[in-house]
Amino acid sequence: MIDLVSEIRQLKKQKNATILAHYYQDGEIQDLADFTGDSLKLARAATKVETDTIVFCGVHFMAETAKMLNPQKRVLLPDMKAGCSLAESCPAAKLDRYQQMLRENGRRFQTVTYINSTAAVKALSDWIVTSGNAEEVIRRVPADLEILFVPDRHLGQYLEEVTGRNMILWDGACMVHEIFSVGDLLSLKKKVPAGITIAHPECPANIREHSDFIGGTEAMIKYVSGFAETKDFLVATEANMLWQLASKHPRHRYHPVPGISCACNKCPHMALNTLEKLRDCLLNGTPEITWQPEFTKAREVVQRSLLN
Ligand code: SF4
Repeated sequence: MIDLVSEIRQLKKQKNATILAHYYQDGEIQDLADFTGDSLKLARAATKVETDTIVFCGVHFMAETAKMLNPQKRVLLPDMKAGCSLAESCPAAKLDRYQQMLRENGRRFQTVTYINSTAAVKALSDWIVTSGNAEEVIRRVPADLEILFVPDRHLGQYLEEVTGRNMILWDGACMVHEIFSVGDLLSLKKKVPAGITIAHPECPANIREHSDFIGGTEAMIKYVSGFAETKDFLVATEANMLWQLASKHPRHRYHPVPGISCACNKCPHMALNTLEKLRDCLLNGTPEITWQPEFTKAREVVQRSLLN
């Protein structure tokens, strides 16, 4: 493993590559990265990369976003099959048909799309949001227009609660955040009575209502940084996030909230990227995300929404 890590470091230099890694990747991959972050932070980091090659350790829609913002660069994804159940829950053709049906019925609306979506879906959208800027964007949509929010119904419900604005919600969900078990969260709270529960807004309402803080991954890091004394945090998001929290703020103790079917809540898509595949993609320059026609429109929406 030490050899593999030094091989990756050497190849990174030889191939003039920058490694970007999402907070949901294994700690050993995050450790090798030049930039770590959530989807928004990594999309922004991708615009600042100076090397010819970006290796994106995350899932397909994130690597697509990096390519959109860097058409001249080579963007590699260690495993092309690293998808996302949330992005897959909203196929572009189905969204297109639904939008047409709404228009034919005289509905006037804007489509607000969570960044966890394919480029083809982004191209059909008016706004792209992350859990960090969604509230602000929703408040910017004119009050005489409806909002179609895609693809995450749990995040959509949460945003309805905090903005007071009703939206038409797409029926999608993340397979990792949807399976948190409220029963196990309550047992964990009994075991760690002074624990502070922090949950991602992709979690269902029954988890959010038992949480002390709701926010995306960057917001979670900021929140725990505000506690000077050692605290116990019960964390309801993808399990690798605990590595990032512990490496940034080691004075606290972090406890994963278990899922219904699995005690760890690891994203199986993110887990497809391994150190071996990272080494191989640096070595071979493949799998590569190539430019697709829909990237032009999607890029315009992403830039207007997230980078200005
Ligand atoms: S944790 Fe959920 S939203 Fe994130 S990549 Fe995995 S399936 Fe998609």
